[in-house]
Amino acid sequence: MSNGEHLIVLSGPSGSGKDTVVSQLRRLHPEIQVSVSATTRAMRPGEAEGVNYFYLTKEDFEKKLKQGEILEHTCYCGNYYGTPKSEVDARIAAGIDVVLIIEVEGGANIRRLYPDAKLVFITPPSFEELERRLRSRGTDSPQAIAGRLARAKEELACAPLYDYRLVNDSLDDCVEELYRIIKTPRVANC
Ligand code: 5GP
Repeated sequence: MSNGEHLIVLSGPSGSGKDTVVSQLRRLHPEIQVSVSATTRAMRPGEAEGVNYFYLTKEDFEKKLKQGEILEHTCYCGNYYGTPKSEVDARIAAGIDVVLIIEVEGGANIRRLYPDAKLVFITPPSFEELERRLRSRGTDSPQAIAGRLARAKEELACAPLYDYRLVNDSLDDCVEELYRIIKTPRVANC
């Protein structure tokens, strides 16, 4: 098994702008690929099957778990999210850089499975800005937003466990820095 030097985990609270950063990164560097996760949450307006997620029922997700098809998974605000093995295995074997946009529990599991994966944590400029972004997205109910804000506080506490931390106050700078991290070999710790 590869040690994961081509795996990049990108974590950060909901509303930190991870998806926007990765979309921009892919526009500039299409050779970098993104793992599409499976989820049991409902599709949001503007999302598409196989592009943002593979949308599964709870039963189908649990079946895939049992069959060993999911590399890592978590339960986030009442829904399953997981990385299909098929999104990762062949790509890292071929030396293709793959970005996993996942939360912190998944990040810790990837670190355990692939010690050489690069773990990058992205934060918004402030908690107030995070709250503003979540509310202005207009996709979640007030109750869901409250759940995501509570989870955001827990996630922010995990930032020190990551190899790299980026503040998303300038999209261009953030994308450039992420690209630099992806292309720089990880220095082994001793
Ligand atoms: P959202 O519902 O906003 O798309 O995602 C909620 C959270 O789940 C985000 O932090 C996102 O990065 C995370 N997430 C998405 N896919 C996966 C996955 O496959 N595994 C894990 N552990 N987290 C994921």
